[in-house]
Amino acid sequence: MRQSQLFTKTRKEAPADEVAKNAKLLIRAGFVDKLQAGVYTYLPLGLRVLKKIENIIREEMDNAGGQEIFMPSLQPKENWLATGRWDTMDDLYKVSDTSGRENALGPTHEEVVVPLVKQFVSSYRDLPFSAYQFQNKFRMELRAKSGILRGREFMMKDMYSFHRDEADMTAYYEKMKGVYARVFERVGIGATTFLTFASGGSFSKYSHEFQTITPAGEDTIYICDKCRLAINKEIIEEQNSACPQCGGKNLREETSVEVGNIFELKTKYSAPFNLSYKDEAGKDQTVIMGCYGIGLGRVLGTVVEVLGDDKGLVWPESVAPFGVHLVDLSGGNKEVSEYAKALYTELKACSVEVLWDDRDLRAGEKFAEADLIGIPLRVVVSKKTLEENKLEVVTRRTGETRMIERAEIFKIANGCFVVGLAG
Ligand code: ATP
Ligand code: MG
Repeated sequence: MRQSQLFTKTRKEAPADEVAKNAKLLIRAGFVDKLQAGVYTYLPLGLRVLKKIENIIREEMDNAGGQEIFMPSLQPKENWLATGRWDTMDDLYKVSDTSGRENALGPTHEEVVVPLVKQFVSSYRDLPFSAYQFQNKFRMELRAKSGILRGREFMMKDMYSFHRDEADMTAYYEKMKGVYARVFERVGIGATTFLTFASGGSFSKYSHEFQTITPAGEDTIYICDKCRLAINKEIIEEQNSACPQCGGKNLREETSVEVGNIFELKTKYSAPFNLSYKDEAGKDQTVIMGCYGIGLGRVLGTVVEVLGDDKGLVWPESVAPFGVHLVDLSGGNKEVSEYAKALYTELKACSVEVLWDDRDLRAGEKFAEADLIGIPLRVVVSKKTLEENKLEVVTRRTGETRMIERAEIFKIANGCFVVGLAG
């Protein structure tokens, strides 16, 4: 994409009322815009990152056998009365229309997915399966001061699995621990994310969270480095301040954010809707469920918190809005701008995603903006590089700068396999 065509602009200052690092940087760099507290628009650059995160999650859910669906946000009150959550969930948005009909704006989707699958499940032969979606959730969050880490409207991947017995659910649940670890690894926060034991509520001993270490988080966890897992502060007492795996007491306290969680729901939501199946003996049994959530904006904001530096955003290649930022310093020199244009065209033909800064601005301004936007690889084209018949390449994360042959960029740019095209 030509940067001159981008309708959004970077900003010198973040809004004064924005306190979170993720929101400050994302707003300044033109990735998101705040409509009101906890409610954000994703702009072209931000949406590209969100979609990459979405696609990584989709690949992993599909690999785990998940079937993608898309459920409504507007949900009838009756379903929420059936589970009791109409009256007990204090962050539920309730809307009514002129006829007096009441609805919930979905903060989660058990009240929709259970009656949905009930229509298709009758026998043990219909189980197991899992269904998931990417959907905006609505929650009346009181503390909406963490930028996109805690939205009042936010995108979640929620998956629900359906099983004939606890053993089958537990096996799938264990598998999902690995699937989740892979998602966080792929989006670039694997090194700082820990599988965390959390209290399970009344239906199971534990649930599990995936917690990423960052001072921006609202949670406290205790890490056992030996087992590479953690315990949430809320259950540490119950655990006698020891690692649930090795019993070790050498735990390190960290501040963290919950990027995902998995829950053994068992019959918590299948029972109220009478979701059952007939076993081999023809006897009715209640379906056993698990659920698995990841907040996409939460993950995006966490990547910013963990990797962003004093110059701006720093994207891992896997989720970067573009792989290459082509900074064109032609400054009116036709030969240089033609060279930049040809390189841009050729990189694109090689499936490299390129943001071409073709604007007429000073070099210093372009570099500062490129640092703020945080694309992994910057390629500078100028009169000097043309004279030397080289390209200047800067790695955003390390700041490392080097001169390379033109052909080499086709080998190092993410996504390019058509080496033969390089001249
Ligand atoms: P928290 O304790 O942070 O409020 P939660 O326990 O309410 O999270 P779930 O209802 O299980 O979270 O939602 C699943 C996932 O959705 C969470 O792990 C998190 O990644 C994300 N999430 C939850 N609330 C928000 C929010 N307000 N804004 C953005 N993402 C959220
Ligand atoms: Mg919550």
